[in-house]
Amino acid sequence: MAKIQGAVVVDKERCKGCDLCTVACPSDVLELAKEVNSKGYNYAQMKKPGECIGCGNCGYVCPDGCITVYKVKL
Ligand code: SF4
Ligand code: SF4
Repeated sequence: MAKIQGAVVVDKERCKGCDLCTVACPSDVLELAKEVNSKGYNYAQMKKPGECIGCGNCGYVCPDGCITVYKVKL
């Protein structure tokens, strides 16, 4: 069976740094960046890209729809 890995892309300019996605991730993939976007929010980013399972939780909980989840067959 092919292994599935996930990847997420965060629209960092729209992210408000609410932290919901980092808490919702079962694999502890996401973190808030130390850097801020042009509105002054610490945006979400992947800290452990290899751990993403593509479950979609982060995209589901983001109130602003900033996260797109991809699934990749390895
Ligand atoms: S898709 Fe799932 S595993 Fe991947 S970053 Fe989002 S919540 Fe975490
Ligand atoms: S849930 Fe959305 S708005 Fe909140 S930190 Fe994550 S990407 Fe940003």
